[in-house]
Amino acid sequence: MILSNKNAEIFVPDKKSIFEAITRTTHLAIAAHPDDLEIMAYDGILKCYKDKKKWFCGIVVTNGSGSPKSGKYKKYSYKKFCNIRKKEQKNAAILGKYGSVIFLDYASYDVKDTKNKNPTKDIQELLELAKADIIYTHNLADKHDTHVAVALRTIRATRKLPINIKPKNVYGCEIWGGLDWLCDDNKVIFDVSKNEVLAMKILSVFKSQTESGKKYDSATIGRRKANSTFLSFNKTDKVDSLIYAMDLTPLIKNKQLNIKEYILKYINKFKDNIMEKIESV
Ligand SMILES: [Zn+2]
Repeated sequence: MILSNKNAEIFVPDKKSIFEAITRTTHLAIAAHPDDLEIMAYDGILKCYKDKKKWFCGIVVTNGSGSPKSGKYKKYSYKKFCNIRKKEQKNAAILGKYGSVIFLDYASYDVKDTKNKNPTKDIQELLELAKADIIYTHNLADKHDTHVAVALRTIRATRKLPINIKPKNVYGCEIWGGLDWLCDDNKVIFDVSKNEVLAMKILSVFKSQTESGKKYDSATIGRRKANSTFLSFNKTDKVDSLIYAMDLTPLIKNKQLNIKEYILKYINKFKDNIMEKIESV
């Protein structure tokens, strides 16, 4: 397997061979930036953390060079900043006992360039090797262009997989903009209450972000708690921490399904729900 960028890297925390590390994957997340895995795919990280038969693999598509910088990070060169972000991602992988993390090292504009087929090709090759059961990526209504581009490349790559190695489920997870707006019967809900210490630990290693004026660690934990409490106004809280996702599996199972029409169905249901309420109360 040859990844397109010469600075692409496959990191294996427990030093197994790359082949063994990737082929043992059960839960795989494809994210745009270093730290997105920990924000959006904690369900997979948590499920694999204490189960010796399950392994989490994270694919980080860009080098994260474009994120806002402040304080001591402001004067860091492009290369130094990217290296720091990579190091932070590796630390999270060690703490979270991931099976592997793959840095594809694209710039954001490469991923958003619809003529550039390399990101899809790299993702497809890794998916073919990993044969994961569950895939997490960004959702189609995310506010961040690069996130949506990664979700689209992931859908394209997953659609190309032979039927016998297609994942059982593909989830579009929340980062820029929550998925609270999805109607409740359209929400995929992950209960991640179990190990909040680990959640905070792996979110807190990204100092280049949290000390650069973006408190993603506390914001992520807060969103999960808000999801839990605000899910239902007539039931008491049963769990502490929930992550929402959009089911993208039908797009993988049916290659003919139009992506724009698919997301419009969710939006229209949300709209209908609001209109109905306004007319009826
Ligand atoms: Zn991101």
